[in-house]
Amino acid sequence: MSIAQARFERVALIGIGLINGSLALNLRAAGLAKEIVACARREATLEKALALGLADRATTRPADAVEGADLVVIGTPPAAAGMVAAAMAPGLGARAIVTDVGSIKAQLIQDVVPHLPAPERFVAGHPVAGTEHSGPEAAFLSLFRGRHCILTPLPETDPEAVAAVTAMWQAAGMRVETMTPEHHDRVLAITSHLPHLIAYCIVGTVADLEDHLQTEVLRYAAGGFTDFTRIAGSDPVMWRDVFLNNREAVLEMLGRFSEDLAALQRQIRWGEGERLEEWFTRTRAIRRGVIAEGQAYDRQALSEAPPEGADDGADRRRRP
Ligand code: NAP
Repeated sequence: MSIAQARFERVALIGIGLINGSLALNLRAAGLAKEIVACARREATLEKALALGLADRATTRPADAVEGADLVVIGTPPAAAGMVAAAMAPGLGARAIVTDVGSIKAQLIQDVVPHLPAPERFVAGHPVAGTEHSGPEAAFLSLFRGRHCILTPLPETDPEAVAAVTAMWQAAGMRVETMTPEHHDRVLAITSHLPHLIAYCIVGTVADLEDHLQTEVLRYAAGGFTDFTRIAGSDPVMWRDVFLNNREAVLEMLGRFSEDLAALQRQIRWGEGERLEEWFTRTRAIRRGVIAEGQAYDRQALSEAPPEGADDGADRRRRP
């Protein structure tokens, strides 16, 4: 399906924060939606979304939001997706395509599918792009550009629905791939969930140390620690949901990480400089590979190309 064929009459965005807000900007820029309806719990969120031009209409009632929509995108925190699906089901049309943007897939699919009148029109997805900022005001047009989007259709998913969702994300500049929900959850456990856990842990440990030892570590937090605080500033509710809903994969990756950490600990204890240097040389090559893939930006490149609407472009563009 070409991008031109992925035009929608009415798109309902359930949850209108960073991800769905940025999607709204892209739908508008590519002319893919005649009308955008936003739904959130709080009136204040909807007022912001309307003021920012992210939607034409807004409602707090999911069933009203999806009435007459040919595309519905669930963009709430993952643990709310099942509840939202149940609430919107009475308004869903039989041919409506439903997709989502959640960072975990297997559990979310299990939560959502039983509520849908046409489960074969549900295409679970995850645009792997984001920042630590939340809410409609955090949305910006270039968020998805050049990044990967993973779709996790089931064997029974309608190929036409998959093609339409693929075309939509391609129009937003994403490279779209498909995989099973379980594979997605294992890959993301190591590339995204574990790094967040480590950041949450180290920032908490340092803050505790400061309290207990009466030191001033936070005042001198330059370089590496600052990068950890950026990741650890991510939305607490969303990340709580991610860890509780991708428990097995995260625990498996955490086990591997703990073994490697113990090995590095031993190398430091026994003064095995050569082994440490080997490890760090390998990781430097990985960093360069990530930059070459276009999935990270060095500070030089950032200062040359700040994203639209971003006041802190470096942080926004560097977050996976
Ligand atoms: P966000 O900025 O916090 O926005 C969440 C939106 O969901 C808000 O509009 C919120 O409205 C609404 N919402 C929350 N609970 C709801 C409920 N029970 N019913 C209806 N609306 C509800 O979050 P986000 O960063 O866009 O993340 C949204 C989804 O994208 C999550 O599933 C996350 O896993 C995924 N994702 C996030 C990132 C990232 O880096 N942030 C990257 C990729 C994918 P109220 O203000 O009214 O509560």
